Amino acid sequence: LAQKPGGQSPARLSRTLSLKQQESNRLELLMRHALLSDGFELFYQPILDRERRLQSMEALLRLRDGDGRMVTPTLFIPVAETSGIILPLGNWVIQQACRQIRSWQLAGHRVVPIAVNVSPHQIAQPSLSTDVQVTLEELELDPALLHLEVTESSVMLHPIVALENMEKLSGLGIQFSIDDFGTGFSSLDRLHQLPVSTLKIDRSFVSRMMDANGTRPIVITVISMAHALGLSVIAEGVETEDQFSTLCEMGCDLFQGFLFSRPIPATEAVPLFG
Ligand code: C2E
Ligand code: MG
Ligand code: MG
Ligand code: MG
Repeated sequence: LAQKPGGQSPARLSRTLSLKQQESNRLELLMRHALLSDGFELFYQPILDRERRLQSMEALLRLRDGDGRMVTPTLFIPVAETSGIILPLGNWVIQQACRQIRSWQLAGHRVVPIAVNVSPHQIAQPSLSTDVQVTLEELELDPALLHLEVTESSVMLHPIVALENMEKLSGLGIQFSIDDFGTGFSSLDRLHQLPVSTLKIDRSFVSRMMDANGTRPIVITVISMAHALGLSVIAEGVETEDQFSTLCEMGCDLFQGFLFSRPIPATEAVPLFG
C-alpha cells in the first residue's frame, strides 16, 4: 500500500493503535492490582511562602511497576479516568492523605494542610462530598487541613454536580484551588461563581516567563486578577532563583517547584515540619 510522506499506512496505523490499547490495558491491570496490594504511594511536594516557610504540601500519586520502577501519573491518570478506576483510586488518595496528616498530628508534629488533586469524574460524583465528610469525621480531622485541587475543565464536565460538591465541601471548611490555571477555557464569570480560595498558575507560564516575548504579562495579569477577586496565587514549577525573585516582585503569594523540593516520600516530609 502506498504511504503518504509523513503519514502512516492503514496497517501500521492500526498496529500503533493496538499498541496504545495494549499499553492502556497493561496499566489498567497494574492499577487494579496496585489498589488491592498497596502498590500506590503518595509523595508530597512543599508549597512555600515568600519567606520560604512551609505552608502546605501537594499530595502526588505514585505507582510502582512490577519491576519496582515508578510510573508517572501523567501516563496512568488518563487510563484511570477512562477505565473508571479513578473513582476507587481517588477515594484512596483522599483517605490516604487524611490518614497521613492524622498520623503526623498524633505523633506530635506541627502539620500543614495537604492539597489533593480531584479528577473530573470524582468531582462529578454526587457521593463525593458525603464520602469526604465521613472520612474526616472518622479520623476526627479538621477540614481546614484538607485542600482540594480541581481544574477549570474538570468542573465544566458536569458543572451542576461539581458546583454542589464544591459548595458542600467548602461549607465544611475545605479550601479549593484551581489547578493548572490558564490552560482551561472556562469563563471569568464561571470562575467568579466557584467557591475557590486559590489559583495555581500553570507551570507552562512560569517556565516561559523569563523569555523575551515570554509569558510575563500573563503571569502579572493572573496575579492581579486573582488578588482583585480576593484569591491567593500559587506559582507551580518554580525552578530557578530568577523565577522566584521575579514572582515575588510581581506579588505572587505561594511557590511550589523543584527549586525548593521535588515531591518526596512521607518519611522525608517529616523534618520539614520543623
Ligand atoms: P499537577 O497537579 O499540576 O501537579 C504538579 C506536577 O508538576 C507534578 O507532576 C509535579 O511533580 C510537577 N512539578 C512540580 N514542580 C515542578 C518543577 O519545578 N518542574 C517540573 N518540570 N515539574 C514540577 P506529577 O507528580 O508527575 O503529576 C502530574 C499530574 O498528575 C498532576 O499535575 C495531576 O494532574 C496528576 N495527578 C497526580 N496525582 C494525582 C492524584 O492523586 N489524583 C489525580 N486525579 N491526579 C493526580
Ligand atoms: Mg495539582
Ligand atoms: Mg498543577
Ligand atoms: Mg500541572
